Amino acid sequence: MTKNVGKFVKLFAKNMKAGKAPARYAVNGLPVTCNHCSSDLFEHGEAQLNTALLSFLDLDFANRSANILICTQCGYVHWFYNQIDRLD
Ligand SMILES: [Zn+2]
Repeated sequence: MTKNVGKFVKLFAKNMKAGKAPARYAVNGLPVTCNHCSSDLFEHGEAQLNTALLSFLDLDFANRSANILICTQCGYVHWFYNQIDRLD
């Protein structure tokens, strides 16, 4: 039992680390490079677009989440409305 819990914690920690590690991504079949510094390593995040401002502007079609890729080198934030693919 104790052994299994240890294994679970180890697995969880590994996944946490993997989720935070910078990676390369592709969008629409094209590798993503930073607009500013041309780096190809990013951290991935998501942003909920369901905001009062969008609803006020009658842009409810945009009320879903967007993918965000943050350049690990210079911090430039890239927003993607489409699906992104992790490469490594
Ligand atoms: Zn950059």
